[in-house]
Amino acid sequence: MRALQYTTIGEAPRVMEVPDPDPGPGQVLLQVTAAGVCHSDEYVMGLSAEHYTMGLPLTLGHEGVGVVAALGDGATGFEIGDAVAVYGPWGCGTCRLCAQGKENYCQNAAVQGIRPPGLGSPGSMAEYMIVDSPRHLVPLGDLDPVKNVSLTDAGLTPYHAIKISLPKLGAGSTAVCIGTGGLGHVGIQILKAISGAQVIALDVADDKLELARHVGADHALLSNGDAPAAVHEITGGRGADAVFDFVGIQPTVELAGRMVGTEGDVSIVGIGGGKLPVGFAAIAYDAAVRVPYWGSRLELMEVLELARRGQIGVETETFSLEEGPEAYERLHAGKIRGRAVILP
Ligand code: NAD
Ligand code: ZN
Repeated sequence: MRALQYTTIGEAPRVMEVPDPDPGPGQVLLQVTAAGVCHSDEYVMGLSAEHYTMGLPLTLGHEGVGVVAALGDGATGFEIGDAVAVYGPWGCGTCRLCAQGKENYCQNAAVQGIRPPGLGSPGSMAEYMIVDSPRHLVPLGDLDPVKNVSLTDAGLTPYHAIKISLPKLGAGSTAVCIGTGGLGHVGIQILKAISGAQVIALDVADDKLELARHVGADHALLSNGDAPAAVHEITGGRGADAVFDFVGIQPTVELAGRMVGTEGDVSIVGIGGGKLPVGFAAIAYDAAVRVPYWGSRLELMEVLELARRGQIGVETETFSLEEGPEAYERLHAGKIRGRAVILP
């Protein structure tokens, strides 16, 4: 089969011919229908040899949907032909956090060498992929696979971040989304769907601000040093009740720290390496800073349900597997509107 693989540190990914995978005991073979292109892949492919730990060659793709093609011995719960979404943050399934469906925070995954697809295990940018357990599949039903594949990360990750802050986001509250790319443009819709907050979106390009307004942002502002004053003005001096930083670089975490109001939350979702110093007088009173990662299995079900009800949707640009490297180039150049999706 063909797979889009990262083969050499520092080089662009390439389409390679690799053996068709066979599902082992308990595993599920999917024929992949769509795979999402995430900025985290770019982060991974930007790591130096010293910091890169995912093994080479790496079949990319941690957002995946497909159709069950074969079941390994003892794998139950799905039938051949079922349309499914892959829950990507694989855990051990038995620790206290996995027991709550929070496999994204599994305590044993690292020690046991359990790696998410596309982030250590072979991912979804291939004609077929192995899913290690039926537990990591959620029925897609009649949801369009191409339109919804990115809900497995670009939907699930903001949903998880937002849900934690939901008690602070009642009517009359304000949420800020920094970065309105793949995650951010879904985050705005999730806020509008499940919270009472007005949403202020920040980005660096006018086309991204247009997208933010298109998906429901009440205000869309350029992300620069003037933005904190603008947020304070819009909120009558209170500041934001929650700031979701979907970029996470030093300038944006600093903006987030300046925008958050008393008792507000800052969620640093982007993995841009920014550090936000907190301490007395360094941030608003009783503000909390969080660093969420991906989301739980239940939250993925909830996100798919929001899509089923038409309350959220992903803006997509599609590419063939051969065009995969081009999708990453366009992402790098900031040219993707919403999410790039690869059709293997
Ligand atoms: P993306 O490239 O689709 O979107 C990033 C957006 O940020 C773009 O619209 C870009 O114009 C904008 N941006 C860049 N610099 C900015 C600035 N200074 N101020 C405001 N906006 C700015 O990326 P994505 O796939 O949505 O991922 C966003 C971030 O989240 C990445 O760092 C990614 O690695 C990370 N991520 C984290 C998790 C997690 O679990 N914590 C999960 C998925 C992705
Ligand atoms: Zn991702």
